[in-house]
Amino acid sequence: MASDTLRTADDLVAAGLVSPERRAEIDAVASRYAVAVTPEIAALIGGADDPVARQYLPQAAELNVSPQERADPIGDERFSPVKGIVHRYPDRVLLMPIHACAVYCRFCFRRETVGPGGEALNAAELEAALAYIRARPAIWEVIVTGGDPLLLSPRRLADLIHALDAIPHVAVIRIHSRMPMASPRRVAAPLIAALASDKALWLVIHANHAAEFGAAQRAAVARLNRAGIPLLGQSVLLKGVNDAAATLEALFRAMVANRIKPYYLHHPDLAPGTAHFRLGLEAGQELMRRLRGRVSGLCQPSYVLDIPGGHGKVPVGPCYAARDGDGWRIADPNGQGHRYPPGDGGE
Ligand SMILES: *Cc1c(COP(=O)(O)O)cnc(C)c1O
Ligand code: SF4
Repeated sequence: MASDTLRTADDLVAAGLVSPERRAEIDAVASRYAVAVTPEIAALIGGADDPVARQYLPQAAELNVSPQERADPIGDERFSPVKGIVHRYPDRVLLMPIHACAVYCRFCFRRETVGPGGEALNAAELEAALAYIRARPAIWEVIVTGGDPLLLSPRRLADLIHALDAIPHVAVIRIHSRMPMASPRRVAAPLIAALASDKALWLVIHANHAAEFGAAQRAAVARLNRAGIPLLGQSVLLKGVNDAAATLEALFRAMVANRIKPYYLHHPDLAPGTAHFRLGLEAGQELMRRLRGRVSGLCQPSYVLDIPGGHGKVPVGPCYAARDGDGWRIADPNGQGHRYPPGDGGE
């Protein structure tokens, strides 16, 4: 990554992002988990407690690991047949070509595996991962994630896309990235050209707060749009960052207004040292319920939980339909219940 990225307590203090008294605290966290703040993210930070700062500036609370937290919170390891592949569902695999990111999110669910030392798969490892995909015709979609795959050089990225293009049964390439938010200048012509594909290539952009949509970020998203790449949004529900209905509303409106369809709102995973970011499932459901009443359906992601232990991702509500005698009781967006009569569908 560019050398102007802030990586140490000294860097953060010098940039005026944290006060000098916090140097020891930041050093302690940084020796355990990777830290990186790009200049474009630093420019969005208004104060040490603002919603962008909370996502990226280390806090002592990260060193408190609670008993239910796990180094591998969503059980990827058990489903990794070869290095760089996670195959949990029959029709799709994760391909992780690189374990580094432009920025390091304090709540990251892969925080035990990502970091600046998390270099790319070497040529032989990447070839083995591709061979795994080639040999399995049931794999319809390849989800390229990491780390951040858009940290690969445009040349290596183009090679990877070409290799996937050449596999007949792969119909869809999906890339998950935080780069348009974290390092928008990198999302320039050479990188966008590398994404040209014969297959349907979808890009899922990770953003958690409307404040992340600064001018440079909006311009990067616009460049991706002009290249005809369909864009989806994924967000993590985070205490102190976006755990208010108005905040989520502003985030999803910002996505849709920038031609990004909100796809998933993730309930935070049980990653080590992230208890200060987690809220209850019930609080999450209540936020989703309020959102339903306030904003366009275009702005509604699915609220999902990745079940610890590797059992997969599922929507976790809220549910608007409940059995009511021989029919149903359906809640409207205001929480009012209405009867839906039994029909001819076997009820
Ligand atoms: C999240 C995830 C996927 C993608 O799931 P979708 O619901 O299709 O977005 C695929 N494989 C693994 C292992 C995952 O964790
Ligand atoms: S960009 Fe994604 S993988 Fe990288 S630190 Fe943030 S959440 Fe983790």
